[in-house]
Amino acid sequence: MSRFWSPLVQDLKPYVPGEQPRIEGLVKLNTNESPFGPSPRAMAAISAAADDNLRLYPDPQAVALRETLAAYHGVSPAQVFVGNGSDEVLAHAFAALLRHEAPLLFPDISYSFYPVYCRLFGIEHVTVPLNAGMAIDLADYRQPAGAIILPNPNAPTGVALSRARIAALLGEHPDIPVVIDEAYVDFGAETAVPLVAEHPNLLVVQTMSKSRGLAGLRVGYAIGDVALIEALVRVKDSFNSYPLGRPAQAGAIASIEDEAFFQAGRAAVIATRRRMTEGLVELGFEVLPSAANFVFARHARHEGAAMTAALRERAVLVRHFAAPRIADYLRISVGTGAQVDRLLAALAEIIGEG
Ligand SMILES: *Cc1c(COP(=O)(O)O)cnc(C)c1O
Repeated sequence: MSRFWSPLVQDLKPYVPGEQPRIEGLVKLNTNESPFGPSPRAMAAISAAADDNLRLYPDPQAVALRETLAAYHGVSPAQVFVGNGSDEVLAHAFAALLRHEAPLLFPDISYSFYPVYCRLFGIEHVTVPLNAGMAIDLADYRQPAGAIILPNPNAPTGVALSRARIAALLGEHPDIPVVIDEAYVDFGAETAVPLVAEHPNLLVVQTMSKSRGLAGLRVGYAIGDVALIEALVRVKDSFNSYPLGRPAQAGAIASIEDEAFFQAGRAAVIATRRRMTEGLVELGFEVLPSAANFVFARHARHEGAAMTAALRERAVLVRHFAAPRIADYLRISVGTGAQVDRLLAALAEIIGEG
């Protein structure tokens, strides 16, 4: 706190990201990064972009990247917005689309950045409790709302809604903006992108950070009706005209073009998630059905915080949220097969001792 701060800053409650410590031999399963890294073609494109042209500003509209994404998703480039990670895309969506007189609705257990943006942009919000099965129940969203945002699959639960359920939600709320945050959609959920054609109020947000192993490059994007995209562009051009550098634009294009690498990576995550889930269940965990690159699990006899600390002592990092309803859960990213072995061995030791 300082007298030099704007009043707004004094009231901010910033998001706390998962830690990025430097520990030898660390098994890092706390931030849902890819265990496989980016496509070699993306890395080559990023290196090739490190040339004399870096003295020039990048394309402020990222036309080539937006064309590549549009072709990939079967939409027009005017329906695509790109930003510096989907966190930035989401921030612009909050400012451009989600502030209305009636409150913004999102699940009580959801991406913890949403309330942070609400505070930053002065957006009133109401959190809607997940049902007893920790799933989103659309009936609970039948209430006065200025807009709705949901992650699908939800985070940190990993539980997904089908595209038919998203279509039903859109059918019930045709007159307010609905944002679907699909950060984890590639790991087994259905994307809502095909619904964009019929629903001018739908914005779908995706990222290259998780399924494309490019968290360090910072590329996210949104797909929606041209008018929604124009709102995002207005905010972006009032904030930073060049959110994506030349290497980021080149690397993102090459990543999209390497379909084989992408498919192999997500298939491996899905297969390892199954094995990891079975191992956790054998150890006595209750594991929510996950369509993401992480699982959300709790143990009847062991507290979440204590288990997280005991894992950390064994150089295994997982994420724990000291929040109501989920304090007993661990959110564990799906790693490589060897990392999952280390995780399960460490948990077996901890549970054996307890
Ligand atoms: C990881 C994540 C994002 C943000 O990812 P970026 O790296 O900023 O693209 C957005 N939403 C959810 C739910 C996430 O878990």
